[in-house]
Amino acid sequence: MNIHEYQAKEIFRKYNVAVPNSKVAFSVDEAVKAAEELGSDVTVVKAQIHAGGRGKAGGVKIAKNLDDVRNYADEILGKTLVTHQTGPEGKEVKRLLIEEGCDIQKEYYIGVVLDRATSRVVMMGSEEGGTEIEEVAAETPEKIFKEVVDPVTGLTPFQARRLAFNMNIPDELLGKAVKFMMSLYQVFVEKDCSIAEINPLVTTGDGEVLALDAKLNFDDNALFRQKDVQEYRDLDEEDEKEIEASKYDLSYVALDGNIGCMVNGAGLAMATMDIIKHSGGEPANFLDVGGGATAEKVTEAFKIILSDDNVEGILVNIFGGIMKCDVIAEGVVEATKQIGLEIPLVVRLEGTNVELGKKILDESGLNITSAESMQDAAEKIVSLVK
Ligand code: ADP
Ligand code: MG
Repeated sequence: MNIHEYQAKEIFRKYNVAVPNSKVAFSVDEAVKAAEELGSDVTVVKAQIHAGGRGKAGGVKIAKNLDDVRNYADEILGKTLVTHQTGPEGKEVKRLLIEEGCDIQKEYYIGVVLDRATSRVVMMGSEEGGTEIEEVAAETPEKIFKEVVDPVTGLTPFQARRLAFNMNIPDELLGKAVKFMMSLYQVFVEKDCSIAEINPLVTTGDGEVLALDAKLNFDDNALFRQKDVQEYRDLDEEDEKEIEASKYDLSYVALDGNIGCMVNGAGLAMATMDIIKHSGGEPANFLDVGGGATAEKVTEAFKIILSDDNVEGILVNIFGGIMKCDVIAEGVVEATKQIGLEIPLVVRLEGTNVELGKKILDESGLNITSAESMQDAAEKIVSLVK
């Protein structure tokens, strides 16, 4: 789960991770009031959306007085920001962060992630902050330094100092940088984060080390024990189809293609997306209906797939293990009848009661193409949507 920058900064304050003074605003008047209360010479008006790259897209503005704050707030609120992380449709801005302007000396990068290869938390740092870290990683990887954390000791002050030193943080600020890193590590572990990214971390003219930006991502499997984090959930930022899917316990991720997929099991769902691609098509989604899908679940899954306007055909790929093929077939027929499907549907069934399942599909009188293998299914749906 993602949260907004202002929410991440609220968490940071509780853990003594240094951030500039700031306030959230939901309207232009609130923005002006917040700026008045902050009382800084320069105020920054920042769009709050679950995506980075706001600066370049016009979502971060420097205001020199309250009139500027009013104008910028008015301009950004309600605007649809398109950044390299939002996709072409962009995201509508409904909240602003009003922050005191900082006298930036230099911008750095700090990220904390879970490295699956070593099963350890890794803190990464670079003096190339402010820009996209992916570019730094591609062009000058030697400028990114890593500290692998031993879970028994946690991040040690020695590691933090070495990282700060490698990042070329000025000597007189090393102490503050170390404190920052130690506190950030504590947030990451105690809040069950999967990503904590500060880009930029800045040193300021008055000798501070501050997080100017803050991105926190949380492990969904640990949310049950992070009640305060759950409260930060902003449904406006999530895909409607994904919210609907989560109500029925379906794992759904929207993608850009035109072939809707309904599959049981995450591994088979991944393989299905691969084989669609391999056959020259583009999957419209990832959808795992789970091991115990009922006819009701299958119907809901179909509705969600069809609510995506880009979908021009559906591929159902089910292995009937725990679930029997005849039950699936009945679910598919039922859903097709209820929804009045008008686009091609290819079904590939395998496993328990497969013959009975195929018979149900064949005798349904509906326009369902049945397939013999995954390859066959993928080729059929790709040619049908062409
Ligand atoms: P994004 O990563 O979405 O573009 P950031 O929060 O990183 O948004 O802001 C973009 C840039 O705007 C920063 O790199 C920094 O140069 C500037 N900026 C952001 N907040 C402030 C601030 N409080 N004071 C001064 N400059 C800021
Ligand atoms: Mg940033």
